[in-house]
Amino acid sequence: MSIPLPENVTCILDRLNAAGYEAYAVGGCVRDALLGRTPEDWDICTSALPQEVMACFPQCKIHTVGLKHGTVLLMLDGRGYEVTTYRTDGPSSDHRHPDGVRFVRSLEEDLARRDFTINAMAYHPARGLVDPFGGRADLAAGVVRCVGEPERRFREDGLRILRGLRFASRYGFQIEPETGAAIRQQANLLQFVSGERIFAELKGFLAGQGAAQLLLDCREPFGAVMPELVPMFDHPQYNPHHCYDVWGHTCHAVEQVAGDPLLGLTMLLHDVGKPRCFTRDENGVGHFHGHPAESVRLAGDILTRFHCDNRSRDTILTLIAWHDRVRVFTRRSVRRMLASLGEDNARLLFRVMYADARAQSPATLPGKLESLAEGERILEELLEENACFTLKDLAVSGKDLLALGYPSGPELGAMLNALLEAVVEERLPNQRQALLDALPAPER
Ligand code: ATP
Ligand code: MG
Repeated sequence: MSIPLPENVTCILDRLNAAGYEAYAVGGCVRDALLGRTPEDWDICTSALPQEVMACFPQCKIHTVGLKHGTVLLMLDGRGYEVTTYRTDGPSSDHRHPDGVRFVRSLEEDLARRDFTINAMAYHPARGLVDPFGGRADLAAGVVRCVGEPERRFREDGLRILRGLRFASRYGFQIEPETGAAIRQQANLLQFVSGERIFAELKGFLAGQGAAQLLLDCREPFGAVMPELVPMFDHPQYNPHHCYDVWGHTCHAVEQVAGDPLLGLTMLLHDVGKPRCFTRDENGVGHFHGHPAESVRLAGDILTRFHCDNRSRDTILTLIAWHDRVRVFTRRSVRRMLASLGEDNARLLFRVMYADARAQSPATLPGKLESLAEGERILEELLEENACFTLKDLAVSGKDLLALGYPSGPELGAMLNALLEAVVEERLPNQRQALLDALPAPER
């Protein structure tokens, strides 16, 4: 078994070896290379102490931010290579970071501190693979398994819970039963992890193909980081449109957008307000009136805690607000949708509506698909016609009106918006003269 190493990596290993130290490629890069994937970055571990590493690369640009954890970042040809001294992590009283690290001279000790067996392998071109925990077999079997005792490993660092789920989702792996049990039982350890780190892992998790099934099978950690989700678990719908409970519907909707983190978040949160809006009518049928607005509110709280960037946040909340708004697709309703959302978000909204429909009862699906297809057809037709949706598409501008003698001020804006409204509703054509004719003459 041999792994092709990039030239710079071979060069770093050789240099350290020549100076009398051990050095190996380690962790994610070995895992990905064995899976036949191209590693994003190559990490190196070594018996050399950080100062010794730096002494081996006097010509190299070096970043030392990670120095106290033993990491030297070597810059070669504009790429960074993390070279980290073999270390063990001490106990961690904050359930997130080790209280202190200790440098050691043995590779096995270093591998033992790593989170999962598939991440605890090292490779050297002459010495081959070092795999004391059976990582290669777990890779072949498609298993995410903690190195050592799962409960203890998650107590040391709660983030590992989400890392494990992310690897399982990305590679379509199973979680080994003991590891899975610890993930479910100790989900509350995630309270010690920052919102930013949780969000980064969550997006990575949703970017994988296996997210939906894991959300169904292993929901506790997600409930721990987003308590707003918990009321959805097992919440019945009592509605002929639905064949799953609220959480089941949510997971199936996530499945429909597999691989797309932005839409994954949208589907994960689109119905989060449902339990609070639940009523049953005299026939026992369940309803969730007003749930999109409630979902927007709760999703907004969640995304704030996660420090989500504003652009993604706006998109997600807009899509949630609109996910159930347009029931009948006509030129007028699609035009309104385009005017409010713009082309990009309107297209995303169709993906959301398809995902939502496909996660509902198969009995009612064909009619919904037909209606959505008609909506998309109209969308394309309107875009093709270059139809007017925003003030900047309107055939007259504020400048035009000022030139004709209309006074500047809020009335001018109101006039333009009234014209836009009329055009969007197809009461007026988007033509300069027709629009001007519709206005009262300016007072002179
Ligand atoms: P990715 O593909 O996301 O980069 P990775 O496994 O390379 O996956 P990194 O965060 O780059 O993840 O970490 C590199 C290696 O460091 C991991 O493979 C693992 O051996 C170890 N590691 C990282 N984070 C932890 C952690 N929280 N606990 C234990 N070991 C960890
Ligand atoms: Mg990595």
